[in-house]
Amino acid sequence: MTAYLAVDVGGSHVACARVRGGIVENRREIRFAAPTSLAAVMPGLEAHLAILRGREPVAGVSIAFPGLVDPRSGRVASTPAGKFEDAVGFDFTGWARERLGLALRLEVDGRMALLGEHRFGALRGVDDAVLLSLGTGIGSAALMRGAMVRGRSGQASVLGGHLTVEIDGPTCLCGNLGCAEALASSWALPRLIAALPGRGALHDLAAPDLKAVFDLARDGDAGARAVRAACLAAWAAAALNLVHAYDATRVLVTGGVAAAEEVVPFIQAHVRRHAWCLGEPPLVLRGALGADAALLAATPLWESDRDQL
Ligand SMILES: [Zn+2]
Repeated sequence: MTAYLAVDVGGSHVACARVRGGIVENRREIRFAAPTSLAAVMPGLEAHLAILRGREPVAGVSIAFPGLVDPRSGRVASTPAGKFEDAVGFDFTGWARERLGLALRLEVDGRMALLGEHRFGALRGVDDAVLLSLGTGIGSAALMRGAMVRGRSGQASVLGGHLTVEIDGPTCLCGNLGCAEALASSWALPRLIAALPGRGALHDLAAPDLKAVFDLARDGDAGARAVRAACLAAWAAAALNLVHAYDATRVLVTGGVAAAEEVVPFIQAHVRRHAWCLGEPPLVLRGALGADAALLAATPLWESDRDQL
């Protein structure tokens, strides 16, 4: 079976791997403190990829990127402020050819995670699904009648974290107001915590993250419970928007916090109560591949026809 190199660019780390079919043969990671630049991570990434490649042949490299990309040209078209701004316009295809001697395919990270889960994970055999990834930001993607939704310029379905869920909400990194991502993501936590009425355990954390919020909420901390409730409400609204937009039978929730026991049942209950659907409301479920989903998407991405993007 053909092997590929795969890269997944995230908000706090870059993962890379050698993959073959549904197997991650070897995986490496570069951690960094946000905000960072492409220039800062590229030397380390090249070194990791050289090791992962080894002596056996690989057929190409895939990159899952957290921004708007043009998959036809292999360039990043737009990325939010503070997130790899120097990636815009960077010639990834030329870089891969010169530095690795390999052809490259670039895609939005949410779409790659959906592609991986569709081929190897929780969405095998499912033709109509949406993905909602929760973490540093909020990503999404949609599959309709077995085809990835890309649209005219490639941005269709991947901005689910930037659909308005609160019309008077805060300004988002994307420029819109009241996006789910501006209300309930890792980067939104300092604002949520600052708005709490009293001081609590969250105020004592140097770098609060979603896991800490959920852990403290379970311990009974009132501030953490309020932040958790705000996050769950925003994520459920985002999921319902995707259901209404894309006629899905499954809502796949991914990202580290998707493993928290409250998340999937809350979104499922909200969708059941409020979705306008013909037939049964969609099932909400957790991704099966975890952080490997976007890496394992290398194979189905390379097997798809670039001319049909
Ligand atoms: Zn936004």
